Amino acid sequence: MLNPCKFRLPAAFELLDTVKYGEQIFVGCDRKIMQRRTVLTSAAFLAAAATGPLCAAVQESTQAFSALGAKPTGARLERIQASPNFSNGTFHNLTPVIDPIDRERSSGMLRFLTEDKKGRRPLERIPSIKTDLTTLADGQMVWFGHSGFYLKLAGLAIAADPALHACFPLGSFFKPFAGADLYQPRDIPALDLLILTHDHYDHLDMLTMRDLKNRTAHVVCPLGVGAHLEYWGWEAERITEMDWGEKIALPHKGSLTCVPSQHFSGRTLERNTTLWAGFVMDLDGVTLYLSGDGGYGRHFRQIATDFRRIDFAIVEDGQYNTDWAGIHLMPPAWKAAVSELRPRFVMPCHNAKFDLSRHTWKAPLEAALANAQSLGIALSTPLIGQIVALDNPARDTGPWWQELR
Ligand SMILES: [Zn+2]
Repeated sequence: MLNPCKFRLPAAFELLDTVKYGEQIFVGCDRKIMQRRTVLTSAAFLAAAATGPLCAAVQESTQAFSALGAKPTGARLERIQASPNFSNGTFHNLTPVIDPIDRERSSGMLRFLTEDKKGRRPLERIPSIKTDLTTLADGQMVWFGHSGFYLKLAGLAIAADPALHACFPLGSFFKPFAGADLYQPRDIPALDLLILTHDHYDHLDMLTMRDLKNRTAHVVCPLGVGAHLEYWGWEAERITEMDWGEKIALPHKGSLTCVPSQHFSGRTLERNTTLWAGFVMDLDGVTLYLSGDGGYGRHFRQIATDFRRIDFAIVEDGQYNTDWAGIHLMPPAWKAAVSELRPRFVMPCHNAKFDLSRHTWKAPLEAALANAQSLGIALSTPLIGQIVALDNPARDTGPWWQELR
């Protein structure tokens, strides 16, 4: 039995604490509207399938259906149903957001395929460094582009959202930028801990998960996401699913807290049957916040209250647009969130790898540079693959994108 990990985290994490995130507000779901939206969306996907790239992708990928994952059932579903964040068959954000994906899903898909895409992908190769991740020292981190990370802390090898293959089950549909595809799943060393923030394809990639399956001691993810992993062969004993506000112990007196984000989930047309989240990791004197995906909401203020000192905040910044302002941070909202979190260092992620929205590829990075400067917070913008010191993640990083086209 392959078990290259140095040691295993406890199979069943002890629940340390539950932090309250205020009164929940639930939104009802109009079944007829949902059915109509599903029909419209299906029609849009079929129309898209008639176009060349998607048609070819369907043919090339016999694994697409596996990549859809599985729905939570049994004891997992019972635990979900007991969550205060779940009602009427789905999870809900703390504050209701106008659901732009519903509103424009059918028209938006066709628009996405046909509109002018000038500046949305770099014309040149993204600069990146192929670091041998097995050589990383304690307290160092490497970014894979988008929201993927690998780091060493307190002797633990930890990865977050490593989607290193493709962000869509159909591999030729959404391709990473040239140079942003430098790392393959096999480059990730044996992991003590894998953190997943939600089940979207650009965060939870089946082929990466298959590759990591036999060398990852434990995975932590929001409620329900483990159903996909078990479907792909992971044992339940290696999966810890968390609700917002739950905190687990890590070795060396560390902790990992699951915190809210304002987003959505789903790998099929059915959405929000699994939870989405951010995480705060307190380990070896470093408090690291991973926002996961999500728009601006009152949860940022609550996180800032619960975690008075955040050393390094990695906050999503990219794949936004005005239609989706509730579920991804527009630049002014990114500034507001970072202003409330007041980290010592901040890094914008969810950019520089995929073109999933309508802004130019440089726009989120330029906005982060200006916003961090005006807030007086040190900005970390490493190259993909560059070794970053967690005690000073801004060191030796700069606006690498500015000279590129
Ligand atoms: Zn997402």
